[in-house]
Amino acid sequence: MVALTFDDCFLPDLVEPLLQDLEAVGARATFFCVGRVFRSHPELARRLVAGGHELGNHTLHHRMLAPRPDRRVIDTEIDGWQRAVEEALGGPYPTRWFRPPGMAGFTTEADPKILEAVRRRGMRVALWTLDVYRSLDRLGVRDPEKVAAFLRERVRGGEVVLLHVSTSNVEGARRVLPELAARFRLVTLSEMFPPDSP
Ligand SMILES: [Zn+2]
Repeated sequence: MVALTFDDCFLPDLVEPLLQDLEAVGARATFFCVGRVFRSHPELARRLVAGGHELGNHTLHHRMLAPRPDRRVIDTEIDGWQRAVEEALGGPYPTRWFRPPGMAGFTTEADPKILEAVRRRGMRVALWTLDVYRSLDRLGVRDPEKVAAFLRERVRGGEVVLLHVSTSNVEGARRVLPELAARFRLVTLSEMFPPDSP
């Protein structure tokens, strides 16, 4: 099993072709879209859920919640995301995962205030094991072929892969999806880590 995760969704137009390719190979993924994207594109949330993909909380405004975590800001950002999703879906959504924007609060030890706020809402923090951003994007590499090669060479079973809804990441992932799907079951985070798992 491999869990592909796509963050931010600041370029929502890239999502639909990606979903078509995912669905063509029977794959599902987890999307940590920022809440405000669902406010302007509510149909995106509906489309993701209808396709069997999972949504994770990535705050309403992509707000870095550390190094000076403020309980009011943490609550507003986390609950604002949830409200944006439920408004877009027109009903409740049982969110299981929170991913801190910029990894803020989780770069070394988990920030206790943020962790407590996440747990109190029945969520868990979802980081990753394979980081396309740190390996390519942050170094200025925007070549889809490099993303494809990275995924082809580096993805192993059990991996949680951090990707973004960016042109290079989405294009690169689309190029290797058939190969990855032939090698692994591509699942959501909740399929990889069911609710009763430790
Ligand atoms: Zn992000």
